[in-house]
Amino acid sequence: MPGKVVQILAEDALIIAPCGINCSLCRAYMRERQPCPACRGGVDNKSKACLACAIKNCAVLAAGGHRFCFSCEKFPCAKLLHLDHRYRTKYSVSVIENLQRIKAVGVEQFVAEDTTKWSCPQCGSRLCMHKPQCVNCGYAWQARQF
Ligand SMILES: [Zn+2]
Repeated sequence: MPGKVVQILAEDALIIAPCGINCSLCRAYMRERQPCPACRGGVDNKSKACLACAIKNCAVLAAGGHRFCFSCEKFPCAKLLHLDHRYRTKYSVSVIENLQRIKAVGVEQFVAEDTTKWSCPQCGSRLCMHKPQCVNCGYAWQARQF
């Protein structure tokens, strides 16, 4: 059923924020109580920081009809560089590398690759980028080389 596959992939693609963050790896999205609906979802249960996000609310991004920051003429802007630095140093995630990969292979392929990359090698659960260990089995993923 090819139509079904396309539908699933299109939904998966919504999980990637315009900045390149994979919301499905976020602790707010993964929590059981009042989970965040992801950047591209609604506003219910969203943190104040995400509601006030300079990139989500970026006028250039909105005006240009950009789906992701990489197609913006200002890419990578100061806001994105700041976010990239914070995520690289705190969580070993580069949103700019994510965006370059999305540009190169498409968002559906990126989601497939990132899902594999963030699966716990010990138990197969999805790892959370904000937590140094697998929530399910305790595997310390930060020791891994990406
Ligand atoms: Zn695990």
